[in-house]
Amino acid sequence: MPKKSAAVDLTTPESIALLERYGKIGLNASRSKDVAQSAKQSTAFQRLVQENDLDNAGLDEKQAGLCVDLTKEAGYENAAGKEKLSEPEVRYIVTAIKDGRLRSTDQVKAAVQYMESTKASRTATENDVGVNAQEFDKSCGVGVSFTADSLMSTLESYMQSLSVSSEAPTDWSGLQGFRANMKNGVPDLRWANGKDLAVAVEGLFGKMFGPKTAGAGGNTAAKEKAAKKADAPKSAGGAKSGAEVPVSATLTTDPTATPNPTSLFSEGFLSKLHKPGENPQIKPELKEKHLAWTKGRVFTRFPPEPNGYLHIGHAKAITIDFGYAKYHNGCCYLRFDDTNPTAEEGVYFDSILEMVRWLGFEPWKITYSSDNFQKLYDFAMELTKRGKAFVCHCDQETMAAAKGSGKGNPQPCPHRDRPVEENIREFQAMKDGKYPEKGACLRMKIDLSSGNPYMWDPVCYRVKDAPHHRTGTTWKIYPAYDFAHPLCDSLENITHSLCTLEFIDARSSYEWLCDALEVYKPRQYETARLSLQGTFLSKRKIRTLVEKGYVQGWDDPRLFTLIALRRRGIPPAAMLRFVEELGVSLSNSEIKLVRFEHAIRQTLELSAARVFLVLEPLRLTITNVPDDYSNELEKPIHPKVPGMGTVKCTLTKSVYVERDDFRAEPPADFNRLAPGKSVILIGSPYPITCTDFKTDPSGNVTEIICALEDGSGPSGDKKFKGKDASAIHWVSADKKQHVEVDEVRFFEPLFQSDDPSKVENFETDINPDSLKVFKGALLEPAFYPVAKKLIKDAKAEAVKRTKAAASFAQDRVEADASPAVQQGASPAETATHVPHDGDTPVATADQLVGMECIRFQAMRLAYFAADKESVIGCLEEDDSNEAGPRPGDRIVLNKIVSLKEEKGKKLA
Ligand code: ATP
Ligand code: MG
Repeated sequence: MPKKSAAVDLTTPESIALLERYGKIGLNASRSKDVAQSAKQSTAFQRLVQENDLDNAGLDEKQAGLCVDLTKEAGYENAAGKEKLSEPEVRYIVTAIKDGRLRSTDQVKAAVQYMESTKASRTATENDVGVNAQEFDKSCGVGVSFTADSLMSTLESYMQSLSVSSEAPTDWSGLQGFRANMKNGVPDLRWANGKDLAVAVEGLFGKMFGPKTAGAGGNTAAKEKAAKKADAPKSAGGAKSGAEVPVSATLTTDPTATPNPTSLFSEGFLSKLHKPGENPQIKPELKEKHLAWTKGRVFTRFPPEPNGYLHIGHAKAITIDFGYAKYHNGCCYLRFDDTNPTAEEGVYFDSILEMVRWLGFEPWKITYSSDNFQKLYDFAMELTKRGKAFVCHCDQETMAAAKGSGKGNPQPCPHRDRPVEENIREFQAMKDGKYPEKGACLRMKIDLSSGNPYMWDPVCYRVKDAPHHRTGTTWKIYPAYDFAHPLCDSLENITHSLCTLEFIDARSSYEWLCDALEVYKPRQYETARLSLQGTFLSKRKIRTLVEKGYVQGWDDPRLFTLIALRRRGIPPAAMLRFVEELGVSLSNSEIKLVRFEHAIRQTLELSAARVFLVLEPLRLTITNVPDDYSNELEKPIHPKVPGMGTVKCTLTKSVYVERDDFRAEPPADFNRLAPGKSVILIGSPYPITCTDFKTDPSGNVTEIICALEDGSGPSGDKKFKGKDASAIHWVSADKKQHVEVDEVRFFEPLFQSDDPSKVENFETDINPDSLKVFKGALLEPAFYPVAKKLIKDAKAEAVKRTKAAASFAQDRVEADASPAVQQGASPAETATHVPHDGDTPVATADQLVGMECIRFQAMRLAYFAADKESVIGCLEEDDSNEAGPRPGDRIVLNKIVSLKEEKGKKLA
């Protein structure tokens, strides 16, 4: 509200002229008065008008009002020079108001905040404020629009997320608290229209707790207090990302075993989904047929587009899609969503299947959207015949303009109301190749007055003159996602169509389409997309990294593709543990990398063998033992897991220790090797004391001289206690008693910033030191038997998996032969039952076992795995030969993860 104290007389001729001017700019009478009444505000607004030439800009009432808001927010009412934003920055925002991107006061506020907070990081030129438009739009909620339906479903989802942590209101008294926290929980709600939101919240409470009674809603102070207490989230952020969801005890610590995350499905959002058959259908017989075919079992699908390698985000989707079905003894399809012939490549199909198996899941059946091309075409024709689809010839620009370009509901296009017969003819013509690409498309005829842009006549079919890898040149038209996806779900009798949050608004057209065709209607549920700190998952950007040589391929261990994570040595169990620990969230957020690393460590902690690896060896010679001194020691493979057994290592007169474990001039708190200091070589019964060291002419230390404290050393009979000396790792200097490692690869984040997706040109953000290679490291010989055992165990596990998969396949064959299917009990009867090459769900050892299965903890260093470039001859031999080095061996190790959260320190 304007300050009345600064009131201006509005009856003077000048004021009347001013009011007229404001009216012409677009302000309504009352807003004009408000502005004119405050001298300060009026001057500020006139300045904005002047600078941006708004007198004749044709602003509507809302836009003009937002410009007034902007003068305030940008500090134009402040004394000259004290504005918050510069003139070009304000101009950028004015343009965003004019072109309809900013449509509310909240958005204008956010725009100003964005400008302020990015001032330092933007590079402005004379004509350009250096704004990253995408980032700007995101911060200002551009394009986020809610319909009554989507508001309600968003609130419902949020409510469910609260119930996960028992924070959901239990009656109307929780209204106040719910309102206070919901925007924290679902930040996009910030962009919802305030009134609509209030109505939706009350509607939701009404639905849950019945009509509001007098006094309900937190009217009394006491109630309000109680309500606040009940509703306040335990941690900031409202809908929690599930950080506190405990790890299920069923998760095995064995990284090779098939893990089985269950808390994801027994608790929280995913524990509350409908039971098969409960999802409403337009006709009751659809439900009956569906249940006859599914026998009441849960059916889900994982529907990747085979246009790239899967990434860690897909691991979340796989865990949820396959895991949900598995938890309910149901079935999950691997459906290749291959409707875009231009983007697909054979290699991706194989890799996707391999990754699903690597994560421990078997598809119940492998299907391809393209198998349904004929059926989808028939459906589209049926829709056309029903007067619910039309052929449109608008060019893309006109289509975009018709969608309102963010300026509200679209105008009907000229083709929308053509007669059904004409549409049938034209659609047939599209199919017959009579139109060039973009010359025509088939669109659903839904509802242009809806508040949900997904209802604005989305495209069903496009002309595309490209051969398809499965259907060749049969088709000249290809179905769009919004058309193919719901119908493939329907054909496959999917009970729970689980997808990511960005599809929340698409649910309306999904359901419309199934109902319009009167086919079985699956229920779609949306959960948060995974994004990880310090990286991006966009296939397009990863491709750039690969093609420009920033990384050495799609499986470069610095990437977060699944093939890269696998190669790096991350156990599949850690992937599932990570997803389970994240829980299912209903608002998108960026996950800190430390959480992923934590899951990896937890998985490896009790399962990884401990091996000595000396990264940067420095020779150490013990003076008070004979030259041929050789003490065979036995040490446990894992000090906390005696069941893993023991290995031998031989202490000799000369050994190698870590260069970093020695200091010629140690700082006061240094308690490893230094002149006069004692340490224990792990496994050895006696400490050693450093008596001297040698250097080369440039002063570099070349050898440490020590004495063994077996009673004959400098400390005499002094008994060492644990705390007297720290324990360090070592290997014998005898060539037969150590293994030379060709390369040890350490990985740092590939980008310098925490969010490279926000950096305009991510290539400038690349960390030049993301790969560090150590040559000349030494391993203890126990590496060989340990490696051999790990590979053997992994192969045994693969065989177990293969057997289980084969019996699963049998189950599928029986299901296909079941009377329900034979009699065509559902629309899915023939949809997906054509056998395909490579269709048999049998995991082979080749797919499941690679060098990465050789994982171990290099004591005091980090967890490592053998890289695929390694050659270890003895692994190919049977058990009668002793595990050990063979000619031609090459050992390359990848660092999986550090032992602790790292603070720039290499050694413990
Ligand atoms: P991208 O943008 O990386 O290409 P996409 O969504 O196009 O991802 P699809 O191959 O279509 O990739 O995805 C298959 C399934 O995996 C979809 O159900 C999708 O929602 C899900 N998915 C993809 N990325 C993520 C993610 N980051 N987090 C969770 N699920 C994801
Ligand atoms: Mg996609």
